[in-house]
Amino acid sequence: MRVSQAAHSGKIALQILHAGRYSYHPLAVAPSAAKSPISPFRPWALTARGVERTIGHYVRCASLAKQAGYDGVEIMGSEGYLINQFIAARTNKRSDHWGGSYENRIRFAVEIVRRTREKVGADFIIIFRLSMLDLVEDGSNWPEIVALGKEIERAGATLINTGIGWHEARIPTIATMVPRAAFTAITRMMKQELKIPLITTNRINMPSVAEDILARGDADMVSMARPFLADPDFVNKASNGREDEINTCIGCNQACLDHIFKRQLASCLVNPRACRETEMNFNPAVQKRKIAVVGAGPAGLSFATVAAARGHAVTVFEAAPEIGGQFNLAKRIPGKEEFFETIRYYQRQIELHSVQLRLNHRVTASELQALDFDQIVLATGVKPRTPQIPGIEHSKVVSYVDVLRGKVKLGTTVAIIGAGGIGFDVAEFVSHGDHSLSTDPKAFAKYWGIDFTVAARGGVTGISRVIHAPPRKIFLLQRKEGKLGDGLGKTTGWIHRAQLKDMAVTMLDSVIYEKIDDRGLHIDRKGKKQVLEVEHVVICAGQEPLRELYDELLKSGIPTQLIGGADVATELDAKRAIQQGAQLAGA
Ligand code: FAD
Ligand code: NAP
Ligand code: SF4
Repeated sequence: MRVSQAAHSGKIALQILHAGRYSYHPLAVAPSAAKSPISPFRPWALTARGVERTIGHYVRCASLAKQAGYDGVEIMGSEGYLINQFIAARTNKRSDHWGGSYENRIRFAVEIVRRTREKVGADFIIIFRLSMLDLVEDGSNWPEIVALGKEIERAGATLINTGIGWHEARIPTIATMVPRAAFTAITRMMKQELKIPLITTNRINMPSVAEDILARGDADMVSMARPFLADPDFVNKASNGREDEINTCIGCNQACLDHIFKRQLASCLVNPRACRETEMNFNPAVQKRKIAVVGAGPAGLSFATVAAARGHAVTVFEAAPEIGGQFNLAKRIPGKEEFFETIRYYQRQIELHSVQLRLNHRVTASELQALDFDQIVLATGVKPRTPQIPGIEHSKVVSYVDVLRGKVKLGTTVAIIGAGGIGFDVAEFVSHGDHSLSTDPKAFAKYWGIDFTVAARGGVTGISRVIHAPPRKIFLLQRKEGKLGDGLGKTTGWIHRAQLKDMAVTMLDSVIYEKIDDRGLHIDRKGKKQVLEVEHVVICAGQEPLRELYDELLKSGIPTQLIGGADVATELDAKRAIQQGAQLAGA
């Protein structure tokens, strides 16, 4: 099959990626038989013939891409994949001419580019993705990285893209708490060394972020991936001044990377249509209906905007003075500021599709019946669960909602009951105070020990991460036995755990809550009783559906559906809420 000719003068390049020891199977190969900390499989060391054969595979792949009509290829030489494994002493323990000295270790990368250029001719684009910051110990240092860049340029690459961090690095590089464009300084450093154009990458999620990078001269081009899952129309919207219509990637990883690691379909939390384009077709509605949506949280907004785009007449009732539901709490968590973008996106969609929005309006069942709707969608969300603990009515007990809304001034010792996503978020909120690393790139780099001069090998300084003293002593508790935060995202849970550890948060499992009184929270842990003498107990014990209008509406005979937390509160997240809303609206 040939790739169709670009109708909009864009160019398309195929990425060639050999995962090496990251391959998830027992026949994985690598320069040496050293297992990666993120894979259960020990790789086989390639023989010298195997190395030659593998170079041939890269070249053949590029040549097939050319035959298929691609304009170019990107050779993945970073992120700790096979080529990067050859380059770094960390993973290359060979003693033949593919290992040992740096010159030997980069030979694999250079030969691939050189022989590919020979095969595909002068006009075909070859992008080489070069790891400019490995973020692992025993990675490359700056003089080596520059030397590699020069060799790759000489070998015939057209462009060099920036790679940041191996997958096994214990420093966040793309998650939402990483500041936007946090790593472009490293590309700027490389620009002083090379003549060919450089591309920069990581956490570039809006056109204005990209424009700023280019204006600063940090790079010649920018690269994005997840933003196109979040909005396939990103480029069109950016090019005709409709930035405010972009559905922004919030860096949550929940439906893309986390799914991949669980072997599920990669999609997008804010755009559930991603990779489901053939099943979720939001065609114009044949029969236009008058629809009421109660609740402007993620579920209600998703339903309302898709239904209105299909031509239905939609009215949204929201009790609060603003749209967004629980996302208005989520965006207050240090490191989750991006969540405001989703609210901004929906606000714009409401305007574009003429959704009638009634804020500050806690609607009743009788009012809805009187307004003569054809269909009612209840997206009223959840109410926090109140656990049955003696003393739960004590004045030191507060809800996470009041804490996050700033209605409570917490003391210097706090116990948090419940260690789900919200318990962890609240722990971060009360331990970081106003220090948000995601809006302060310098503090972010300092905290995670990133050395942008790459004087230290791999760019990791190993310096202590704590940049401010914890404002209070925090206990984070759960009843079940086992590691706290086990249910958090696969690619982000470790970051939350590391940050709370740095803030000296005491995490306790197997807790039985006995009572709360003036002394504090009395617990029993594996038969040992103790009192946590805290000034406040914050309840983060999950939620229950809020669906007080449902029974009455059902009796009225108006077709009524529940979505989001109002439907099922257990294990509800925004991914499910948005997907369910879109699916119902598209039906
Ligand atoms: P809600 O967001 O609760 O919205 C319901 C809306 O209905 C509210 O605005 C409410 O005012 C309105 N309403 C209720 N009754 C009426 C009525 N009678 N009339 C009019 N309006 C009414 N999820 C993730 O996937 N990833 C995260 O990282 C994440 N982080 C979170 C962090 C925090 C601190 C919190 C609190 C939640 C987080 N969540 C996260 C969960 C996510 O926000 C929820 O799953 C999602 O908001 C549920 O959407 P919903 O529309 O069902 O309900
Ligand atoms: P949750 O994840 O279900 O966690 C609830 C916590 O409360 C658990 O630790 C549970 O642990 C405890 N609990 C439950 N019932 C209790 C009871 N009766 N008494 C005492 N403790 C009780 O819910 P959540 O933290 O409220 O989060 C709500 C949803 O938002 C989650 O589904 C989550 O996916 C989503 N969210 C996601 C993120 C994210 O980063 N992806 C962040 C925030 C929220 P024990 O039963 O062991 O005590
Ligand atoms: Fe971005 Fe989250 Fe969508 Fe992944 S799931 S593309 S990180 S918004």
